[in-house]
Amino acid sequence: MWFIIGAAVAAPATLAHAEIGIDDAAAPGNPAPTSVAADAPFVIHSTNGYCEISIDTSQATDLKDWAEKKLAPALAEWYPKIVAMLPSEGFAAPKRFSVIIRPGNGVAATGGTRITANSTWLKRELNREAIGALIHEEVHVIQQYGSARRNNPNATRAPGWLTEGIPDYIRWFKYEPQSHGADLTWMRARKNFSPRYDGGYRVSANFLDWVTEKYDKGIVERLNGALRGGKYQDDSWKEQTGHTLQDLGEEWKKQLQEKLASSVAKRKTADAEKSQQASFSRSSERNVPTSTYQRIVTGYHGCDSALAARVLAGGARLNLSTNPYDWLGEGIYFWEQGPERAREWAIEQASLSRSRINRPTVLGARIDLGECLDLFDTLNTRLLGKWYIEFRRFVRQKGARMPANRDAPGTRRGDRVLRFRDRAVVDYTVNRIAEAEGIRYQTVRGVFLEGRPAFPGSKIALKSHIQIAVRDPACILAFFRPGPSESPRKG
Ligand SMILES: [Zn+2]
Repeated sequence: MWFIIGAAVAAPATLAHAEIGIDDAAAPGNPAPTSVAADAPFVIHSTNGYCEISIDTSQATDLKDWAEKKLAPALAEWYPKIVAMLPSEGFAAPKRFSVIIRPGNGVAATGGTRITANSTWLKRELNREAIGALIHEEVHVIQQYGSARRNNPNATRAPGWLTEGIPDYIRWFKYEPQSHGADLTWMRARKNFSPRYDGGYRVSANFLDWVTEKYDKGIVERLNGALRGGKYQDDSWKEQTGHTLQDLGEEWKKQLQEKLASSVAKRKTADAEKSQQASFSRSSERNVPTSTYQRIVTGYHGCDSALAARVLAGGARLNLSTNPYDWLGEGIYFWEQGPERAREWAIEQASLSRSRINRPTVLGARIDLGECLDLFDTLNTRLLGKWYIEFRRFVRQKGARMPANRDAPGTRRGDRVLRFRDRAVVDYTVNRIAEAEGIRYQTVRGVFLEGRPAFPGSKIALKSHIQIAVRDPACILAFFRPGPSESPRKG
């Protein structure tokens, strides 16, 4: 979410005013006009135009803005993707479905092509689980496992663990893998966790991901076909993978428990190294070991004060940037040791779009850099050059054009603050190293040279900064409100 300057400036000025108007209408004390149009469901089409999605917030009007701006585009984008993941012979996905948001119990439920979601829960989860939970429901709309039994009394019943495991597989491993909601990171946080393949939801999702990666890339698609056609049996697994469901379940569980045990051991070693490092640096600077990179830094994040308050209260998480021009790739962005630069940025953003940042503020964070792709060493910057060559080949094979870094209106010419190419190459490098070498970078850190010279003839750029993109939110150890010593000095 870094340089939205370009996008915001490119938008017509009237749009910003329209957004403010909507915000005002939804605020308490400014009831929305009670015309029919205000209560009518919001309608959007899936990005391929195939499906009509209507969202009714007439019983939860304070979620109208979120539903239209955040939820609707996600559902529209993911409907065709999920349909493509779950094809089966002769099946046509529903051409319309509806979402009703209103106060209720639980999270959400789907009957046929009608999703009902609990507005009380959604409000608590707006920056956490809200959209992902509705992506899960959207998968139910496409599964349609009940249809086989309506037409054929001999059709087999879909087991609940798969009916729920498949939506969670798509949600946690395809839609939002960065949330780590069903992988080892999530499992590590469970106490006395004993995984069962048929545990449902996230646990079964993890099992499906493991079978997909280890034995059969098409397992979910084919299971779905059998479930939808009323032909599923536990024997289907043996036909598909050559192993019985029981054997697969045992193997998965064994590997998982080994990984969970080794990650505990690894963490203990890392902690021991850290305390050793601390005692070394106390006794003699010369003895500080250089082998372990891990260290803790302080970063600052510019954002809206309401969001900052929710994050500090533990009621919200910061989202990973999805802007294709944020230079260090996917991640939550922080200015290392730069509270003033973070504040200036937030103020600048607020002046461009009040709907993104209304009351600019700065949030402090202690960040464990962990496994860091640190662009301060040629060891790492050379890596980028190496993977760039493969990336270029990959882009050419697709017949696509290489992304380019670009200037944004109102910024210094040549700074190229819209870093489309840098982001693409960083993301490509990080992903390919994870696949090829099993190294999962949790953070990326670099220096951004920006702005005019600090004084005439200088090579010190006024707005230069060190930035960190945190890819793994587990690296954020704590948030804090910057104290008076960290607030801007006047004059
Ligand atoms: Zn469900």
